[in-house]
Amino acid sequence: MIRKLLRKVFRRTESAVPSEPALISVDRHGIRREQLSPVACKVCSVLQENGHAAYIVGGAVRDLLIGHPPKDYDVATSATPEQVRALFRRSRIIGRRFKIVHVMSGRETIEVSTFRASHDTEASQTDEHGRVLRDNVYGNQAEDATRRDFTANALYYDPSNETIVDYHHGVADIRQKTLRMIGDPRARYREDPVRMLRAVRLGAKLGLVIAPDARTPIREMAVLLENVPAARLFDEMLKLLFSGYAVKCLQQLRAEGLHHGLLPLLDVILEQPLGERFVWLSLENTDDRVRADKSVSPGFLFATLLWHEVLASWVQRKKDGEQAQPALFSAMDDVLDSQARKLAITRRIAADIKEIWALQPRFEKRTGRSPYRLIEQPRYRAGWDFLKLRAESGEIDMEVVTWWDDFAHAGHDQREALINRAPSGEAAPAKKRRRRRKPASRNQDTADTTRSTDAPVEATGD
Ligand code: ATP
Ligand code: MG
Repeated sequence: MIRKLLRKVFRRTESAVPSEPALISVDRHGIRREQLSPVACKVCSVLQENGHAAYIVGGAVRDLLIGHPPKDYDVATSATPEQVRALFRRSRIIGRRFKIVHVMSGRETIEVSTFRASHDTEASQTDEHGRVLRDNVYGNQAEDATRRDFTANALYYDPSNETIVDYHHGVADIRQKTLRMIGDPRARYREDPVRMLRAVRLGAKLGLVIAPDARTPIREMAVLLENVPAARLFDEMLKLLFSGYAVKCLQQLRAEGLHHGLLPLLDVILEQPLGERFVWLSLENTDDRVRADKSVSPGFLFATLLWHEVLASWVQRKKDGEQAQPALFSAMDDVLDSQARKLAITRRIAADIKEIWALQPRFEKRTGRSPYRLIEQPRYRAGWDFLKLRAESGEIDMEVVTWWDDFAHAGHDQREALINRAPSGEAAPAKKRRRRRKPASRNQDTADTTRSTDAPVEATGD
């Protein structure tokens, strides 16, 4: 009883806006300004020279403390979006849920946001589940810190003196490998259910353990994700799938009970009996590429995630007497029509997916001029990578994959010889013409097992 009361009081003081932050100097945290993006530092110094407070905040500070290279940089400032916009020529105000400013320099974009007021101090609109719908009121740094999700994400680094401003013991939590919610986790999940997905993603990516009080409610509150707009969920799924830790994240989501019935995409990914091996291989492949800093494309990944649905429909249609090519196109449309809407897949990504699928039957034609035409296709490499995954998952014979790799790299005479010895007709299913297959190991990296070059899967462009 007393313990319960103490916990309640403690929680309240924790969620209240603290006034005195810890100032952690460089000799204690070890992050030198040279380790940060010079552009982000410059943005801070311009803002400071113009009389505003400005700090690098969020993921970049957290990642550096953990020893991960930061992915991108966020700056928090006391300047309003309009004041920020006026100070940087290459900048624009982005107004989705909150007004923020993108400051561009070279190939970098720094996201600059104005300190936000905490929900406690300003009225904000919520829906009937407590989800915050609208609030765009500015506040001070302490309030801004309290609005952030996890203590590890509420660290403010001042490049001018290399000091970290820490309101919620974030540095200590990171040292203890803990992902701790600021305030009451249940209330914070109600405000924004996406925080549950963020907890799982950041925990898996950074090797942090979600604190028990933030972990426990996830299972029962997962249903709130149903109220989040599909486009926002899709953005979050992209972050998760391209975090470099997709396999770990999805295993974790499964463990937390977040995978079933709420996110159509996760159902597709995790509940495909036929394509399970294919999907995990593809995710491992994506993780390897992201971690090796190679390019990855949403089109390619979604093409793999949905392939076995297409395949099932394609096979059935061919059995029913349809021609291979039109049968495939009908199957593609079926799957994309039923999935794309639910998943909020953009039209651009859908077009990429279709291109990769549509190339697949063309790998079956290894006679006449067809092979020459196929290797000239701009998406040939993506199509071939996809074919290779199909073979690695046991769907088709690896012989086809090797043949195309040989063909693509051969001189004219060798190509003719390859065409002459190619079996005609469809790629044989792996079961009938099984060769020695590699075990289901990790790291079946495209570039390692063949002599094909390290060409990107496909330019992202999204
Ligand atoms: P990464 O960029 O590696 O995905 P991040 O933590 O930087 O991680 P962003 O989406 O870039 O994620 O957000 C920047 C910062 O904004 C976060 O560190 C956090 O402080 C805050 N933030 C982002 N999303 C939320 C949210 N849903 N609720 C509260 N704070 C958030
Ligand atoms: Mg970030």
